[in-house]
Amino acid sequence: MPLNHTPIVQMEHVSFEYNSARVLDDINFTISAGEFVGIIGPNGSGKTTLLRLILGLLTPQEGSVLLFGKKSHLGQNAQEIGYIPQKVTQLETRFPITVEEVVALGRVSQRGLFRQLNFDDRQAITEALDLVQLTQQRGRLITDLSGGQQQRVFIAKALATRPKVLILDEPTVGVDIESQEKFYQLLAQLNKEHGLTIIIVSHDIDVVVNEVSTVLCVNKTLIYDGTPKEFIKEDYIEKLYGKGRRFILHNH
Ligand code: ADP
Repeated sequence: MPLNHTPIVQMEHVSFEYNSARVLDDINFTISAGEFVGIIGPNGSGKTTLLRLILGLLTPQEGSVLLFGKKSHLGQNAQEIGYIPQKVTQLETRFPITVEEVVALGRVSQRGLFRQLNFDDRQAITEALDLVQLTQQRGRLITDLSGGQQQRVFIAKALATRPKVLILDEPTVGVDIESQEKFYQLLAQLNKEHGLTIIIVSHDIDVVVNEVSTVLCVNKTLIYDGTPKEFIKEDYIEKLYGKGRRFILHNH
């Protein structure tokens, strides 16, 4: 799906400090509708902080963060954003509830707990399960699924609100490499075929760089904002992660 260049996230001269320790310094970038953005950088480089600023969970001491053209406030754009925080799967998979019930929670949190699911809710749940190819498993307990399938359930939960943007923080921690690649392929498909804007923070540089359309590389400052191809060509990986870090770009 072609980009329509509507700005989704705009950061201008953003700096952020925790207890006067500066962790992000003069960050500038724009994310447009239809982009698939991978935010990468070494541990402690400010990736999660950047996401929290986008979501309005944190406010910068300097600069401005706009979401859909407006100042980002917590909860303001809840319906338009599907947010999948770190370790969400470990938390919710301890309870023996069905796949469909987990996805339904996405609708419940949108409109309040004590409300019956209506036709539109049911349809959104069915669509979301179909998009992640878990229709067959809808009645199974989440605890009985593989790690890779559980991740897809949480994507479906986020999709059930029919968001414009999906934001994910380190979603593949603890998942094997094959499930990881399938997971990124699903995201790429949601991006290309359904026009969903996706922003993902990840330490899996190899997988990320092979699937995203834009790489944002942070290490306190914004080191790089551009295509994965240029990112690799310019040897940023060696500069950031040291010599000898091997990298494989697939041909697709
Ligand atoms: P990343 O996601 O790239 O690992 P973070 O954004 O989590 O990086 O952290 C960036 C820096 O900010 C790190 O040095 C981290 O220790 C520090 N930091 C993160 N959260 C807090 C916090 N709540 N209070 C103080 N320092 C924090």
